[in-house]
Amino acid sequence: MTDYDIAIIGGGGAGLTAAIYAARARRRAVVFENAVTGGQIATTGLVENFPGFPAGVDGFELAQSFLQQAEKFGAELRYEDITSLSVGPDGRFRLQATESGVHTARAVIVAAGAHYNRLGVPGESELVGRGVSYCATCDGAFFQDQEVAGVGGGDSAIDEGLFLTRFASKVHVIHRRAELRASAMLQERAFANPKMAFTWNTVVERIEGKGQVEGVSLRNLETGATRTLPVGGVFIFVGQLPNNALLRGLVDLDDGGRALVDLTMRTSVPGLFVAGDLRTGAARQLVSACGDGATAALAAEHYLEEEPATHG
Ligand code: NAP
Repeated sequence: MTDYDIAIIGGGGAGLTAAIYAARARRRAVVFENAVTGGQIATTGLVENFPGFPAGVDGFELAQSFLQQAEKFGAELRYEDITSLSVGPDGRFRLQATESGVHTARAVIVAAGAHYNRLGVPGESELVGRGVSYCATCDGAFFQDQEVAGVGGGDSAIDEGLFLTRFASKVHVIHRRAELRASAMLQERAFANPKMAFTWNTVVERIEGKGQVEGVSLRNLETGATRTLPVGGVFIFVGQLPNNALLRGLVDLDDGGRALVDLTMRTSVPGLFVAGDLRTGAARQLVSACGDGATAALAAEHYLEEEPATHG
């Protein structure tokens, strides 16, 4: 068991920025990350909207540089999951880690982010990893010269769809409305790309295939017409859900399951902060997540300075 000043749960943009600030304040800081450091940007190809990189920057490389910066200042990284978070009678937080057991911390910043929604249609869960994917950067290369479908009309669907055109012969964007939600620049790029095809006002009713995706059953919402589109892969980007399992019952959440915080990322529990995509009203951008991480770390620092008596 280790006793930390500040424990950070989640090693994405928010968590790693919080770690840089906490470690530079000479606090004993740890980041728990259950997958790949960098969070969502680690699986994003080119990040074009993070200030300071006019030519864009590879998401994975940017995440690695965040990590190096946090470690340079002395933050500790632990690649394991935190399965429970509670406050002990002494006011210290108790964190149950999957590998190393229980740790304690005087302040906690939860920056666990969000994960992609499932579509919830027949065939989806059976064919995950067999043609159904939620990450173009991870799986796109498996679909060289094949036709694939991308579901959704937001930034993720279009960004990842454009990435898929590097490999696929055709990317069919299936969207339930007749206009995209994605930013204007991404839309322009998508419409100009001859490998991108758009199927409007249409939903996926079923993912077809025996052991491997072979196609998607589509239904046009205006005409009711159904048809099967033969594709080798289906990439699903229909929004995100906050990773709030540790917070349920501990702090107040909004209707979407995101933590209610004040402008300094404080929750209703003293010493507990939430930063990034998991907090209410998040802009869900890397730059804002990083800003949240810095804000939360500064607020945690103030909390530690003001509360020494309660925490010995
Ligand atoms: P999003 O903006 O919420 O878009 C989700 C898309 O999925 C919408 O087009 C929505 O349709 C559709 N959808 C939702 N539920 C559906 C269902 N059950 N069946 C069919 N379609 C469904 O989510 P996102 O694209 O993952 O983006 C999340 C956040 O990350 C955003 O703030 C975005 O700006 C940010 N982001 C930014 C970038 C970038 O800047 N390059 C890249 C990725 C993500 P409707 O449009 O009809 O609602």
